[in-house]
Amino acid sequence: MLLCDFHIHTKFSDGSLDLRKTIDIFGQTGFDVIAITDHVVNGDHPIGKFAHRFKLSVTAKNFGEYIENIRYEAQRAWDKYEMLVIPGVEISKNYISSDKSAHLLIIDIKEFIPACMSIESILIEAKNQGALTVACHPHHTPDRMNKDTLFLWNNREKYCRYIDAWEIANRDDFFSVVAHKKFPYIASSDFHRASHIFSWKTLLNCQKDVVSVKQCIKTNKGVAITLFRN
Ligand code: ZN
Ligand code: ZN
Ligand code: ZN
Repeated sequence: MLLCDFHIHTKFSDGSLDLRKTIDIFGQTGFDVIAITDHVVNGDHPIGKFAHRFKLSVTAKNFGEYIENIRYEAQRAWDKYEMLVIPGVEISKNYISSDKSAHLLIIDIKEFIPACMSIESILIEAKNQGALTVACHPHHTPDRMNKDTLFLWNNREKYCRYIDAWEIANRDDFFSVVAHKKFPYIASSDFHRASHIFSWKTLLNCQKDVVSVKQCIKTNKGVAITLFRN
């Protein structure tokens, strides 16, 4: 099965390592498929304004450069490690209230999507681009203290038809409540620094190409999760 991680941050947002170093860590560890998913933060709230100011968010302005860098590194990763690298973002709608906050992975994104649009518009735009949508850390995370993102889970009946998969595990946290619902699932590291490589991961039984990977996750056939340890 393919060893995969679909939730990875670099210095393009708040990750501690640059893109190339990040890719080398995953390549050298033997991963088959990864997605780079730096934050795109909503600028319509002080938290987001702060993120923009301190360059902790991909923006409309540097999105082109971001994608170009990922595509370049993806070719290098394929030649060197036979590892598939897919460009993505983590739309990060941050508010004081956990009930309003939502984080959403858009994997295989082509055009910039602003995080200040409504969740519904974002999901529809992602679908129009043929991207995969994943609700991330959708339930309470004990070590994130007041930074829970519960909007998608609380409104799951309304939005589940647009959401291709749900993270049932993120780094060290397992969301059993989410796992009980029979939605398609993945598990990811939410990688921000090197030690995060040891965390929950997804295993896929499919071909190593973008179309097959997206299809495998959507249909949720041949998907497993594993707690990847040293
Ligand atoms: Zn982050
Ligand atoms: Zn997040
Ligand atoms: Zn993240």
